[in-house]
Amino acid sequence: MAGHENTRWRRAIKAAEALFLTNELGSARNIGELTKIVSAKTGKRITIDHVDGPDLAMTTALWVEFSDSSLIVLRAQDPAYYQARGLFHELGHILFQHPACEALGTAMRADRYRGGHVRGRVLIPDHRQPTIYGNEQHEGEAEAMAKILGRHLLRARFDADDKMFG
Ligand SMILES: [Zn+2]
Repeated sequence: MAGHENTRWRRAIKAAEALFLTNELGSARNIGELTKIVSAKTGKRITIDHVDGPDLAMTTALWVEFSDSSLIVLRAQDPAYYQARGLFHELGHILFQHPACEALGTAMRADRYRGGHVRGRVLIPDHRQPTIYGNEQHEGEAEAMAKILGRHLLRARFDADDKMFG
């Protein structure tokens, strides 16, 4: 990793840690409590939906914004760890109040989903492949938040599907 990328990543981690603390995200013991905290911050209900189908062929997580709510769609057939990472990534964008998730190019993005405006979708990359990022600062911050949330909530639990989304 080049030096300037290192600096950018450290900056993203610092910013995410600060948000984690000011929003008291550490008090969340599960994903339900986490989304409640984020929802209280944005004033919008956050719904998590697990779907199975071609809609998400190239997507681990999809963030769809409605006027009064936010929807995060996760691919049901993904392992729980990937679903959680995708969810945390999109929650990271919401916490940072980014305009969108640009982990994939616009060409791969549908504008509408179930009547809502698609703000972003992320495909958790195979670790052997380079990550395709649009706005690197935003994506770095979302990834940093995902990492911190994962470290907090997934500790030795990522094989317990039923508990994680309980
Ligand atoms: Zn993103």
